[in-house]
Amino acid sequence: MELRGKAVADAHKAVLNERLVALESKGIVLTLGILLVGDDKAAQMYAHFMEKTAKSAGFAVDLAHLPASASFDEVVQVIERWNKTDTVYGVLPLMPMPPQIDRDALIERLAPEKDIDGLTSKNIGLASAGKGGFWPCTPRACMAILEHYHIPLAGKEVVVVGRSQVVGKPVALLLLEKHATVTLCHSKTADLTAHLKRADIVIAAVGRAHVITGDMLKKGAVVIDVGINDLDGKTVGDVDYESALSVVGAITPVPGGVGSVTTTMLLENIYEAYHARNVDC
Ligand code: NDP
Repeated sequence: MELRGKAVADAHKAVLNERLVALESKGIVLTLGILLVGDDKAAQMYAHFMEKTAKSAGFAVDLAHLPASASFDEVVQVIERWNKTDTVYGVLPLMPMPPQIDRDALIERLAPEKDIDGLTSKNIGLASAGKGGFWPCTPRACMAILEHYHIPLAGKEVVVVGRSQVVGKPVALLLLEKHATVTLCHSKTADLTAHLKRADIVIAAVGRAHVITGDMLKKGAVVIDVGINDLDGKTVGDVDYESALSVVGAITPVPGGVGSVTTTMLLENIYEAYHARNVDC
């Protein structure tokens, strides 16, 4: 079975749309601040894609594009302006930034209640401790897919391959919250296949084309492939889809899987930011 992301995104978008229409009828429009610094082509494309997607969903967008020569202070000024603007509910700083901008220091200047991609230390701490805060969008997308397709998690053996702060670690914690038994694997894991062979569910977040093949997986496993890799000009996942298909019970395609859901999760977090500030809505 193919776990397509579009069905998941559409279901979430429908709920979000109802909420935004209800707010609009009260004259409330939520603004997303998108921060782009420099000339990185991929970041520019993503900024315009996000702007279009957020606007078509019913959000207002303030896109700040600073030149590659912008100083750290100039970039921080934009963040601080949004921190103080009541109508801005979410801020998205796009990477990469030019070398003179200290990414980590910049992120920490972002008001945690507007940090819709769960980047600040405060959000990471709150979310990990189960005390609110925003989870990053990609782990949320993985969870939304598992939930949408009614994949049971309690008591299941889950292997997460990759331990990054934005994908592997947070998705492992989210799975733990759902009572899965979670193993985190990484580049120093001694025998990846031995772990994968006993996994009911695999989350692959490595960033290496086809690092996981069908013969490494357990029969009937559910595979969520987060990886986005270029292989001979083709976008492929971390899992070799062709060889996995005859082994697994269900798998997300790449493209068309996790990536199709992450943007919707980001937009949902803007609404959540509004909701957190207006508990009576
Ligand atoms: P990182 O490079 O930050 O992390 C990769 C992880 O994979 C590391 O923990 C690394 O281990 C581990 N790893 C590397 N090689 C191996 C190996 N041979 N065996 C086991 N583990 C290995 O990547 P991200 O987490 O940021 O992204 C992962 C992938 O997900 C990328 O392809 C990225 O493009 C994609 N992505 C997709 C998104 C989506 O919306 N679909 C959004 C975000 C990312 P170690 O820690 O030891 O170095």
